[in-house]
Amino acid sequence: MKRVILEVASNRPLTPLVYEMQLTGDTSAVTRPGGFVEISLDGLFLRRPISVCDFDDGRLTLVYKIVGKGTEQMAGLQVGTKIDVLTGLGNGFDTTLCHSHALLVGGGVGVPPLYRLTRNLIAEGKQVSVVLGFNTQAEIFYADEFRKVGAEVIVATADGSQGIKGFVTDAIRQTGIDFDYFYACGPLPMLKALSEATDKPGELSLEERMGCGFGICMGCSIQTASGAKRVCKEGPVFKKEDIIW
Ligand SMILES: Cc1cc2nc3c(=O)[nH]c(=O)nc-3n(C[C@H](O)[C@H](O)[C@H](O)COP(=O)(O)OP(=O)(O)OC[C@H]3O[C@@H](n4cnc5c(N)ncnc54)[C@H](O)[C@@H]3O)c2cc1C
Repeated sequence: MKRVILEVASNRPLTPLVYEMQLTGDTSAVTRPGGFVEISLDGLFLRRPISVCDFDDGRLTLVYKIVGKGTEQMAGLQVGTKIDVLTGLGNGFDTTLCHSHALLVGGGVGVPPLYRLTRNLIAEGKQVSVVLGFNTQAEIFYADEFRKVGAEVIVATADGSQGIKGFVTDAIRQTGIDFDYFYACGPLPMLKALSEATDKPGELSLEERMGCGFGICMGCSIQTASGAKRVCKEGPVFKKEDIIW
């Protein structure tokens, strides 16, 4: 974990409520897809956790949805603003667990951490199919970004306004993707349905309200098949067989 001051290099809407923010500065602590950062915001006691969408030397990309005071404040941050960020948090995805063909499943703002994961898997010579689930066409983001880095992209919308009508599990069933390992991030009901729909192994990123974000306060502890675990420290990524639904 490293506390750094990063500068807002861009901050633009992808949809009416979802923004992409690029930050520049010392990103040396960010090393693995699936990790997160914690952002300190004016007047808010708790930092806000946001997954790392992508990172390269000195640049960090975050994608976030406005749901309350903190994320609303983030959307108003101007280019050049300096913010206090804890970087290098969480235990991310393990790309070595996939041998040849990965299925990546993201729902809503569960999509961002899958982007860097896709880049890493493809760099390792693996085939990547990404299923992105949204409520409606207007909420879709990053489908083209995934395509540009070489992933097969399947979009599902609950109302059928684009792609396959239904949930990500409907899209997986209909397309019959043949994969050896899956990685997923999104709302809990989606993760549960996905785990139940396949007997293949996988890793899932869980979201939990958290206090400190680095394992001290124990506020985000959950029971797993191998005992109590902190989502911020041992997670947010857990193996399918460890999760007690
Ligand atoms: C490890 C981790 C990674 C995350 N990555 C992302 C990301 O990449 N993009 C993104 O948009 N969001 C992400 N989130 C969720 C994000 O942290 C919350 O949406 C944010 O903290 C809300 O802050 P706020 O002040 O805007 O809203 P608040 O005013 O704190 O809350 C507004 C509403 O959002 C709900 N809410 C707030 N935090 C959470 C949470 N952690 N889980 C579920 N519901 C919550 C509250 O119950 C409330 O209804 C992540 C959360 C975690 C734990």
